[in-house]
Amino acid sequence: MPFSQLEADLAARRAAHLYRRRPIVTSAQGPYVEVDGQRLANFCSNDYLGLANHPQIIAAAMAGAQRWGVGSGASHLVCGHQSAHEECEHKLAAFVGKPAALTFATGYLGNLGVITGLVGREDAVFADKLNHASLNDACLLSRAAFKRYPHNDLAALEHLLATTTARRKLIVVDAVFSMDGDCAPLADLLALAEQFDAWLFVDDAHGFGVLGDGRGSLAEAGIDSPRIIYLATLGKAAGVAGAFVAAEQVVIDYLINMAGPYIYTTAAPALIAEAVSASLDVISSEDWRRERLTGHIQLLRNALADAGHPLMPSTTPIQPLAMPDSESALALSAALRQRGHWVAAIRPPTVPTPRLRITLSAAHETADVEHLIADLCELLAQSASN
Ligand SMILES: *Cc1c(COP(=O)(O)O)cnc(C)c1O
Repeated sequence: MPFSQLEADLAARRAAHLYRRRPIVTSAQGPYVEVDGQRLANFCSNDYLGLANHPQIIAAAMAGAQRWGVGSGASHLVCGHQSAHEECEHKLAAFVGKPAALTFATGYLGNLGVITGLVGREDAVFADKLNHASLNDACLLSRAAFKRYPHNDLAALEHLLATTTARRKLIVVDAVFSMDGDCAPLADLLALAEQFDAWLFVDDAHGFGVLGDGRGSLAEAGIDSPRIIYLATLGKAAGVAGAFVAAEQVVIDYLINMAGPYIYTTAAPALIAEAVSASLDVISSEDWRRERLTGHIQLLRNALADAGHPLMPSTTPIQPLAMPDSESALALSAALRQRGHWVAAIRPPTVPTPRLRITLSAAHETADVEHLIADLCELLAQSASN
């Protein structure tokens, strides 16, 4: 049996309630989705503004397919960089107030590209312990010294920065931590970067579109500096796909020349760039989506706190409920699903401690959130009395 070791590993995962499978969704994305023939209210998507199925953005993608076809043909440096990509980059840079931007096919690739492109063997990266897995993979792949500090622990970071002899110093953080929903202290991190002449790389996968009137976590924090390299993904609040890095022109030029994960991959289809451009228009014009989202967040947090089941500290659409173990997280997720709510149980090794990760969207109706609250409170009360 060539794969008996793999079989044994998977069996151990199953026994530890850590085995993963992919639910098959048979509908478009939206506040309700159909899964295995069941209609579920969707509380696990990152489509925070409800743009994944927005008519104006769909129309832009379809017009993009008509004009540009579906394939880009080659990488950006060969012949795949079309004027739709170029215009989209200019629009993204202007939107977040940076001189230049570069798009990637996914956020994972963007993180690999920025970190492996900017640092190498003689350098060091300083990373929050709760950073997204793609940032950790990128740091390992870069071969720079990989120094991790406890979550949001500025004193620990300062100590690491004060004692390094690295050529280049890159601080790497999630702006909004993807499984916790809390935010990095960006102004303090920038102050440390200035003090120790480091660069600050901010992954705003969950802040872009939502925070700072849609312009993201830097706008929300009211900070701006040439030493900040900003990345946001476009498959979450923006509702499309891909990612962009926004930074000083020299950083973008450097990445175009040096970043393997940018250079050696086929450009995303131009229709994606057209859809992203349309999404930016919606993000900047439809403020009601952010207002409605904020209302849902407050409703959920207040109701669960009042019922004695406070959520983890978070002001973002990511609202996790800490669970004692993976088994009870799975059981509560399954019980909610029987009642028509889809909430993901997130378990190690994705996170250090199990939780239900509830995500809210402007696409939800207030009644959807109220139904979730009622069922969640009832199930939590039942399990406490058992
Ligand atoms: C989702 C996510 C990514 C990856 O982005 P994709 O476009 O999904 O590849 C990167 N960083 C963070 C913090 C994320 O949550």
